[in-house]
Amino acid sequence: MSQKQDISFSVIPNPSPVPAAEREKLLAQGGFGTVFTDHMVTIEWTEGRGWHDAQVRARAPFSIDPASSVLHYAQEIFEGMKAYRAEGNSVTLFRPDQNARRFNLSAQRLAMPEVPEEVFLEAVERLVDIDRDWIPGADGSSLYVRPFMFANENFLGVRSSRNFVFCVIASPVGNYFKGGAKPLALWVSTEYTRAARGGTGEAKCGGNYAASLVAQMEATENGCDQVVFLDSAEHRWVEELGGMNIFFVMDDGSLLTTPLGTILRGITRDSVIQLAKAQGIDVKEAPYSFEQWQADAASGKLREVFACGTAAVIAPIGEVRHRGGSFTIGNGQSPVAEKLRDQLVGIQRGRVADTHGWLRTI
Ligand code: PMP
Repeated sequence: MSQKQDISFSVIPNPSPVPAAEREKLLAQGGFGTVFTDHMVTIEWTEGRGWHDAQVRARAPFSIDPASSVLHYAQEIFEGMKAYRAEGNSVTLFRPDQNARRFNLSAQRLAMPEVPEEVFLEAVERLVDIDRDWIPGADGSSLYVRPFMFANENFLGVRSSRNFVFCVIASPVGNYFKGGAKPLALWVSTEYTRAARGGTGEAKCGGNYAASLVAQMEATENGCDQVVFLDSAEHRWVEELGGMNIFFVMDDGSLLTTPLGTILRGITRDSVIQLAKAQGIDVKEAPYSFEQWQADAASGKLREVFACGTAAVIAPIGEVRHRGGSFTIGNGQSPVAEKLRDQLVGIQRGRVADTHGWLRTI
């Protein structure tokens, strides 16, 4: 459903932006995703007409009809990416082309129109540019950018909508790890799964996250930070966490990560694979069972486990809990995860040379 179109953005600046002093106060108080910048980008899609009415304007509530299809059948997809304050007054985005690409893979799976990659990128860049004063400068902080699209036809029949809204909003965020990078505790869900072959596991659609909440609640009740999902057919193979991918570091120095298919194709996951391979580290993308994980943790074959994603970049895992008990990983040290994290954060922050051409400067 991709269409080449000339889309010109009209810009209507927010007439009453939040004053700088107020902004600072909001930033100090807010937790993740609670404070938003002054503007948003919206673009509409109508069957037969394609994308139109691209606007950069004051962030404001949508007015949608109670029969709007997204409210009934959840035809909605999103992305998550970060903009970093860099040298001078410049701002960098990390691999935004990959977000644009993944967004369109999600669109295909949810029978939605694709957003031309250059339009997606222009929308993100225009929002980051107009709200650049909102980007916090403190180490570890950034502007979280949330592009999303939803069906908006007032119709209760079950078929793809004839109207869609693409929107980008942004939220300044602090360091994911307040009080230092404590290793995470994971809860392995042996009851709930998030994705089946042929399902929507690879798409970044709201419904996947709705389905994961009850498992995440179980994780929290058991004192864990994140849930680990197993495959839906056998409840045996490790897939990914609620909002991150997973890597295992073996005693021969090699990395193992679970294969694509029913997991989200993490951009951090791909970056870690590329960084590790460039250093001569052997990286396997192969199925790994929960049973093998426990055996390798017990025998000492498994040295480290880490989770990765846009929010936390790379987070070491210290402990794993499940219905039948719990186990710890390695000796509590995570040199491999820390080195990869330093490299990745270094590139994102402009401290390490971007030899892969991953940064886009605005
Ligand atoms: N898996 C899931 C389910 C996620 O929500 C995310 C976060 N987008 C990831 C993995 C990591 O993806 P990325 O590295 O692109 O942020």
